[in-house]
Amino acid sequence: MAFAFHILGTSSSGNCSVIEAGGARVMLDAGFQGPRLEDSLQSLGLASAAIDAVLITHEHADHCVGLAALLRRHPALKVFANRETARRIQSTFKVRPDWQLFETGASFDYRGLTITSIPIPHDAADPVGFAVDCPAEDGAAARRVTWLTDLGHVTDVVRHHAALADVLVLESNYDDEMLDLSKRPPHLKQRIRGRHGHLSNHAARDLLTGLKEWRATELCLGHLSKECNRTILVEEAMREVRESHGDLRVSVFDPLEDRPLTIS
Ligand SMILES: [Zn+2]
Ligand SMILES: [Zn+2]
Repeated sequence: MAFAFHILGTSSSGNCSVIEAGGARVMLDAGFQGPRLEDSLQSLGLASAAIDAVLITHEHADHCVGLAALLRRHPALKVFANRETARRIQSTFKVRPDWQLFETGASFDYRGLTITSIPIPHDAADPVGFAVDCPAEDGAAARRVTWLTDLGHVTDVVRHHAALADVLVLESNYDDEMLDLSKRPPHLKQRIRGRHGHLSNHAARDLLTGLKEWRATELCLGHLSKECNRTILVEEAMREVRESHGDLRVSVFDPLEDRPLTIS
């Protein structure tokens, strides 16, 4: 299967992507309501019946709200999650998915892909990011797709995985000033800014400019807050990153448009 990475959407309102590579079509998070998820898949020429498995980062609704509907249509779908995340989601479900449990931090193989879960600091039961190693095929080189959203601060493990990514999706959640000026209650502002909240534009930039190694040819900034961020502010924050890596393609996912993006 030729490599393709489809980002159906990534923002505070919903996250979902699909990796086609090796012998697998794997969904990463299912954070859109059923009909929206189906429409978005269809617009990319994908059918939900063709999805083999779903990887879940954590139990927040913007990452798994569409899972139940997906399972009603396709009960045999494999769902990869760690034990705590599976337990939280299962407690809200009537059906029992075909859970494929992994240990946080461990790697496992699935249909030609090697998937590594990456522990991240966020206010969920046991949240993770993922690095998915896709094999070389059809004359194209092997590629590693790494998904790192929903993290309150940058750890050494996060830094390590950001440096090894060929295709990197990184959270750039909020602009400091917009968050300050927003009407959100103080406790929510504190939660977003906290060590287990979300990465600001400047924190994401500092992670990228501080990396000692760099492999990425594709960088997608995602999980933007609709209320407290704008793509132009992310673009501005990332100017230095663009300038240091001339051949890097940078995409900023607009939470107000939510237009799918395919990297192939
Ligand atoms: Zn979250
Ligand atoms: Zn989220």
